[in-house]
Amino acid sequence: MTPIYDVIVVGGGPGGATAAYFLGEAGLRVLVLEKETLPRYKACGGGLSAHMLKQFPFSFDPVIESRINAISYALGEHTITVPLPDRSVCVVMRDRFDAHILAHARAEIQQGVTVAKVRETSDHVVVETREGDVFRGRYLIGADGANSVVARSVGLRRGKIMAAAIEAEVPLPPAVLQRFANRLLFIFDEIQPGYLWIFSKSDHLSVGIGALHPKPGELQSTLKRVMTRYGISLEDVHFHGHPIPIYTGRELIASSRTLLVGDAAGLADPLSGEGIRLAIKSGRLAAEAIIAGHPDQYPAMVHRQIGICHAFGLGLAWVFYRFPRICLALGARNPFTTYAFVNLLADRVDYPQAMLWIFGSLPLYLLIESLASLVGILGGSRRRHQLQSAIYSTLGVKANRMDGFIPKPWFVRSHPLRR
Ligand SMILES: Cc1cc2nc3c(=O)[nH]c(=O)nc-3n(C[C@H](O)[C@H](O)[C@H](O)COP(=O)(O)OP(=O)(O)OC[C@H]3O[C@@H](n4cnc5c(N)ncnc54)[C@H](O)[C@@H]3O)c2cc1C
Repeated sequence: MTPIYDVIVVGGGPGGATAAYFLGEAGLRVLVLEKETLPRYKACGGGLSAHMLKQFPFSFDPVIESRINAISYALGEHTITVPLPDRSVCVVMRDRFDAHILAHARAEIQQGVTVAKVRETSDHVVVETREGDVFRGRYLIGADGANSVVARSVGLRRGKIMAAAIEAEVPLPPAVLQRFANRLLFIFDEIQPGYLWIFSKSDHLSVGIGALHPKPGELQSTLKRVMTRYGISLEDVHFHGHPIPIYTGRELIASSRTLLVGDAAGLADPLSGEGIRLAIKSGRLAAEAIIAGHPDQYPAMVHRQIGICHAFGLGLAWVFYRFPRICLALGARNPFTTYAFVNLLADRVDYPQAMLWIFGSLPLYLLIESLASLVGILGGSRRRHQLQSAIYSTLGVKANRMDGFIPKPWFVRSHPLRR
């Protein structure tokens, strides 16, 4: 039987929506099958680089919840706050964000349709749904997330490793929201390996926790315990759980007619678990490989543009989660690190380049901070801050909000984020 569609995309998250968008722009006949009714909730902090969105020729302003101007890292009693380059990071609610991309795709979208099984023949793919429909396409893009039915059906991603995460959307009084406004807060060393987060949205906070192999109940109890320190009660709040696939680089992500993207391909960042960028990037790569008539080259494209980078990210994650204090003391306090991570998030540099930037900048950072400390001892803290700001802004980065490096305690003692 002749396939009706050039490409069937299973899943309408950022991976599937991006693939559908670029395939549709190239004039291909595309069908998107999504099991939920859109817009649908997805447990996700929704933090992403604004730069990543520039590849789409339409505005995301209607679905941006807030623009982030600072990142805070908390460890025990101490917090570091790092100002961000203006408007470089934003947060979204995934229901509206995903639906927004899909609304721009020239594709047929069928919602409330759950794919149950797929099979490949020599010249097409057959997609069977739980509702009893059967669709045929020349190619299939599996964008159905961490528990991908598509991957299972065609025998891909057999050895996958999953982290677990839970999140809650918490409405709070304006005074509490104001404390966290336009900021991402990451909290380390409360669960290993993993972290907690508080992201500010327009009218509430998204709070969550993710970890590799947590004990039963550990995520929820840790999240509740830590959030009370910040004046956030989670007693009557609903938690949403979702796995985050950890990239190992060893799983197959494509067969002759099926290409996996995003979480279905296990492409979330191994250090942070951020995955919207990688879903968009792989969705676009899959579309480009099909448009170019070389879907067989997709795994190599992913390996080159994501896999090699993730391998370094895995190494960095290994070091970071074993020695979070040292890494935060040397890394988070160094404004060049934030600069490197903002560029990583924006997909302008990869992990090897970011690591080169972080480690390469270390001597310069230590020199500037030692000099600033000396000026502080001789001329007072105002002079020291002036010097730091002047040097860092000459070098194109913003100084972080804390005191000099060597003679000071590791972190600022008290912080306005805590109650
Ligand atoms: C708690 C949490 C917080 C996170 N925070 C961030 C963050 O702040 N920033 C960031 O970048 N990343 C974050 N991530 C990761 C990010 O959410 C994922 O990497 C991203 O959603 C992957 O996109 P995707 O399109 O591959 O899959 P998904 O977004 O999971 O989309 C898959 C789609 O497929 C549909 N589907 C599933 N099965 C079927 C089926 N059988 N038939 C039809 N449709 C199906 C689903 O309904 C869904 O719409 C977070 C993850 C979690 C769990």
